[in-house]
Amino acid sequence: MRNVGSFTSELTELKRDKKIMSEALLTPTKNIAAQLELLISEQSIISKIAEIADRLNSEYRDKELTIVMIMKGAICLVADLIRHIQIPCSIEFIQASSYGARGAKRGELTIFGLENIQLAKKHVLVVDDIFDSGATLSEVMNRLKVQDPKSLKSLVLLSKKVPRKTEYNPDYVLFEIEDRFVVGYGLDYKEHYRGLPGVYALMMENA
Ligand code: IMP
Ligand code: MG
Repeated sequence: MRNVGSFTSELTELKRDKKIMSEALLTPTKNIAAQLELLISEQSIISKIAEIADRLNSEYRDKELTIVMIMKGAICLVADLIRHIQIPCSIEFIQASSYGARGAKRGELTIFGLENIQLAKKHVLVVDDIFDSGATLSEVMNRLKVQDPKSLKSLVLLSKKVPRKTEYNPDYVLFEIEDRFVVGYGLDYKEHYRGLPGVYALMMENA
């Protein structure tokens, strides 16, 4: 665990290949003291993706895959996943938002872009960053099902260990985590922290 203020040198180290440093990334809200605790390292994510890619390679052998990425959180996962699978694939995207400007408090679910994708007769894999209450993914899956895809599955980076109202469960889960608010590897707090290479629990005082 570390203070965001003292996080600068470590982040520089983490991002040295990209040579990117952003003050905004470290201090999204100046009057809130935030701490980040590493939960899942970049290396663990990549080796889990390689493992899942092997399963997908055999499951979708001789098929073509249509990946529907749920923006924006799935951006890092899809980018790495498509470089590990060996199946021909195309990518579509929709945007879902339930946190928005509210940061870590859940709000109303909105889904954009469903009208721009045609999935009839396709093998579809929906990719999202995290399965929390399950409201987003179960609603997305319901809305995609009506397009009559040949197959429809889902894959998420993280699933929180929480009680849920929905009976839907994602087909592939890379990591299960405790019920904490997390950022990094595509996940945001008020649009910040998406570029961190691993997954971090974000703890805020005075939030
Ligand atoms: P759900 O509808 O409650 O399952 O929430 C799913 C969406 O909320 C995810 O696609 C994320 O964009 C966002 N979300 C849920 N938990 C977290 C979190 O811990 N950090 C960042 N975003 C989250
Ligand atoms: Mg989000």
